[in-house]
Amino acid sequence: MLQTAQNLIRQTGKTLNLSNSDIEKLVTPEHIHKAMLEIELDNGTKKSFQAYRVQHSSKLGPYKGGIRFHPQVSLPEVQALATLMSIKCSVAGIPLGGGKGGIIIDPKTLSITELERLSRAYVRAFYDFIGEEKDIPAPDVNTNGQIMSWMVDEYIKLRTKNLELRTSDVTPEQLSKWRGSFTGKPIEIGGSLGRTEATGRGGVIALKALLSKLPTSLKLPSFAYGFGRAQRGAGSSKPTIAVQGFGNVGYYFAEIASKEGFDIVAVSDSKGGIVYKNMEPLDIPLVMNCKKEKGALSGCYCVGGVCDLRGGRAVSNEDLLELPVDILVPAALENVIHRGNMTKIRAKIIVEMANGPVTEEAQDYLVEKGVIIIPDVLANSGGVMVSYFEWFQNLHNEVWSEEKVNKKLLELMTATFAPIWERHYRTKTPLKNAAFEVAIERMTTEES
Ligand code: NAD
Repeated sequence: MLQTAQNLIRQTGKTLNLSNSDIEKLVTPEHIHKAMLEIELDNGTKKSFQAYRVQHSSKLGPYKGGIRFHPQVSLPEVQALATLMSIKCSVAGIPLGGGKGGIIIDPKTLSITELERLSRAYVRAFYDFIGEEKDIPAPDVNTNGQIMSWMVDEYIKLRTKNLELRTSDVTPEQLSKWRGSFTGKPIEIGGSLGRTEATGRGGVIALKALLSKLPTSLKLPSFAYGFGRAQRGAGSSKPTIAVQGFGNVGYYFAEIASKEGFDIVAVSDSKGGIVYKNMEPLDIPLVMNCKKEKGALSGCYCVGGVCDLRGGRAVSNEDLLELPVDILVPAALENVIHRGNMTKIRAKIIVEMANGPVTEEAQDYLVEKGVIIIPDVLANSGGVMVSYFEWFQNLHNEVWSEEKVNKKLLELMTATFAPIWERHYRTKTPLKNAAFEVAIERMTTEES
């Protein structure tokens, strides 16, 4: 992943005629922090865990990026993700840079109290490097609002102590500002309304922005808004979508897209998925209820009996990617579209809601074939956009309504899409390259 990100930055740097030293600055993180976190386990013994915080670029503002708890966390992975955060924040035109953190741990092996101790230990180890004006972490894989609330609490305790203040001396404005040192927090302690749905919502906005351009600016013979009709008879004229992954990103993408007039005809989670016969649309809230009840989507269909989703059938994760849909939305894992299946992809548009779901080789092949890929740094940037709104609200001691957050997300995502599309259309470069060009131009020309 690190190699891929760095290759694309080097290639973009050359396209933009940057000097070798400027290109090397772009691929090299500004700081790499490492720490061994020792915590006491519930049985009284001590155990240490390797932790990282990589701060890639602060050219456009304080570092921003999640903290991942996973057994496969590694320094190159954290560095790659920090690098991509710099690109993503720049693509979004927000005054933030790129960072990422991680701890090598399978959190399922810890009790809740051990998890809290580990989260607080992370903050103590990196206290000097984080803060609302330095580096603003957020949740990532296996971390959530609860972990952010422990972390921000630890941070505020340390800050209060270092300034030799009593808790009662901290003003509401000061407290709100300090809470801006982390995003993805629960609403009660300064989290933003609309954050949970933001990544999915942003992806739907980007997709609609793309579709609004296609009929007039691109001559795709098989594509018109609604070409999925061909597979489904004359009854429906809505574009069809298959979504891989039914977690925070995939579920909200599916739910919001179906409200916005798309037909979600297939969804999947780690155990497999479901698709309706004749590619009829799924009722997404009903599917979610069924998943909650049965534990997995693959339990939400039946063959020859009473079932929740009559007419549905099971589909494997691999087969879902190859369905004859208009739009494919990989929203689970990286590298799911690769050399082995790229020739079988039938969708005309891919929305990269997961990070890096299409390999470099598959991207080249599909783009050559005429498939339009909305790149991850654009498609899933709704999350960091609303994290930025959360930070902004904290710094200014404001609380925005959900309506205001959604309106601002729509405006920002629409404004983000426009210059990338314009460059893609003008230079015929794929959207991913266009997004990197826009981002790197801003990182190398804007005043810091
Ligand atoms: P999540 O843990 O909430 O959901 C992941 C989903 O993927 C689950 O439904 C899980 O069952 C499914 N899944 C796991 N393995 C699978 C497999 N082999 N095949 C199909 N489905 C599988 O995670 P999320 O927050 O929805 O994140 C999904 C992706 O989006 C990740 O790549 C993440 O980095 C990226 N992303 C998330 C956000 C965000 O705001 N949550 C922002 C940007 C990017």
